Amino acid sequence: MTTTPTAPLTLRDYIRARHRCDEVTALAPLLPLASLPEAARARAAGHARELMTAIRAIHRERGGLDAFLHEYDLSSHEGVVLMCMAEALLRIPDAETVDRLIHDKIGATDWAQHVARSDSLFVNASNWALMLTGRLVNLENRESTLAGACKNLLARAGEPLIRQAMLAAMRLLGEQFIMGRSIAEALANARPAEQRGYRHSYDMLGEAALSMADAQRYHAAYLAAIESLGASRRGEQSIADAPSISIKLSALHPRYEVAQRQRVLAELLPAVGQLAAAAKRHDIGFTIDAEESDRLELSLDVVEALALDPALAGWQGLGLAVQAYQKRAPAVLDWLAELARRANRRLMVRLVKGAYWDSEIKLAQERGLADYPVYTRKVATDIAYLACAAKLLDDPLAFYPQFATHNALSVATILEMAHQRGSANFADFEFQRLHGMGAELYDQIVGRGDAQHPCRVYAPVGSHEDLLAYLVRRLLENGANSSFVHRLEDGHTPLEALVADPVAIWHGVRPPQPVPLPGQLYGTERQNSRGMDLADHPTLTLLAEALATAHGQQFRAAP
Ligand code: FAD
Repeated sequence: MTTTPTAPLTLRDYIRARHRCDEVTALAPLLPLASLPEAARARAAGHARELMTAIRAIHRERGGLDAFLHEYDLSSHEGVVLMCMAEALLRIPDAETVDRLIHDKIGATDWAQHVARSDSLFVNASNWALMLTGRLVNLENRESTLAGACKNLLARAGEPLIRQAMLAAMRLLGEQFIMGRSIAEALANARPAEQRGYRHSYDMLGEAALSMADAQRYHAAYLAAIESLGASRRGEQSIADAPSISIKLSALHPRYEVAQRQRVLAELLPAVGQLAAAAKRHDIGFTIDAEESDRLELSLDVVEALALDPALAGWQGLGLAVQAYQKRAPAVLDWLAELARRANRRLMVRLVKGAYWDSEIKLAQERGLADYPVYTRKVATDIAYLACAAKLLDDPLAFYPQFATHNALSVATILEMAHQRGSANFADFEFQRLHGMGAELYDQIVGRGDAQHPCRVYAPVGSHEDLLAYLVRRLLENGANSSFVHRLEDGHTPLEALVADPVAIWHGVRPPQPVPLPGQLYGTERQNSRGMDLADHPTLTLLAEALATAHGQQFRAAP
């Protein structure tokens, strides 16, 4: 009997094999990587405690966006309404439907109970705007004199008044996250922070282009931004010190999806290549943001083509974001390290935890897939983040690590990990934070004598209409009870709980999985119907084979 030789597994096969593997199995090899010796662990916890104490003191005094996001946590009715509104305003094309939604959601909501519950001026200004909107909607149905007056006002000013008030409230919230409406304004606004030692990565707001015209508009905006960044870049700056650009591939092609792989590579690749060439010409960093997990493989195809493009040789600014909450992340880093060597270049890697957790969970359930592509316990993501950080720090020839987090314990642990690896590596990475968030954390680290470390601010540029998708992710992320920012803002969570070692938690009383596997969504009632993952390479191969076999068969119908 002869056996057909099987091709050896490639690093891409390893990525695929981990796509929806079991959470406990995925995490097992990461635990030693994320562990620190006892003394180092204690130092990291001590440092995190100091950082958090200072942040809490500043927040008590000043308030700010974090306080607002905490006030509207997702367990409150108003928090859910706020998020639904932000999400819905993004999708509703006509004013009439917006008005109906406002009536439905805003009127029945008690915004007044939030006013003056916080000392923050920002919280109260936003609350007032929302409350007034709610009042106007409510009053319309009341038969008091005041209500009559308001009713008249409404009748005269019409529904657009409420819509405008609602949008004003959203705008107020949104402005906290936007660096500037144009790249010139953003560059000017960034200057004071730059003088204090911060770097910036500019993001032209907009994602998920719906048409080729959208994609061309975003492409032109990115290109113009790169030219402006190039012009503002100082000659003596290294590529790490210089400003950089962050791009979303979904903004550059309306069909950026696996089913359109050939078309995407033929049409998207030249567009991205042109942007990368401009970034190379100005010697600035160029990071491809991480989006939904369905798109991971496509994004890797694009990164591979760019990394191997001879026209981009010699430029050290090519980079991408990697999401630690995906079970595939460590395998992606192995593949990237090999790519860096093959392409003879160093890749900038922004390590994030991942911003699409809720939609990843929902999609897997809706499609009835075998398992989730992301971890379901927060502590698992924290461990994976540290393990991936260790992998990045361990390979300085392949990677320039960029650790993007607002979690003080993650920051303190990474500083300790870098310290363990010697001072040479210590200087050779940066932290990143989002504009409007994490300032109180990183002000304690950037430009502070011996202990200082560089931090880059992710700076969204654009109008508030383009901000909504981004805003929804921030609301979701910060409103979640498990979020670090949320727990720190909540004065009741003891610091000891916030500095608890995630590896020790995993080995100890591990929290139960918060969601059942997609197939068991309905418990004992019934099995969820099973779907096919049409973004998964092995599934697609099997499907293609089955289709080819079926195609070759003769079917005969007879009465
Ligand atoms: P933490 O509170 O410690 O962590 C929150 C994160 O934990 C959540 O975002 C989620 O990833 C994870 N999590 C929450 N609940 C669970 C659960 N039940 N099970 C498993 N995991 C859970 N995100 C992207 O996706 N793509 C990007 O390109 C991107 N760019 C960024 C750039 C910068 C500069 C920054 C600061 C963030 C960026 N993010 C991006 C967002 C990032 O992924 C995180 O959502 C965010 O930073 C919160 O993580 P944290 O460490 O600050 O907070």
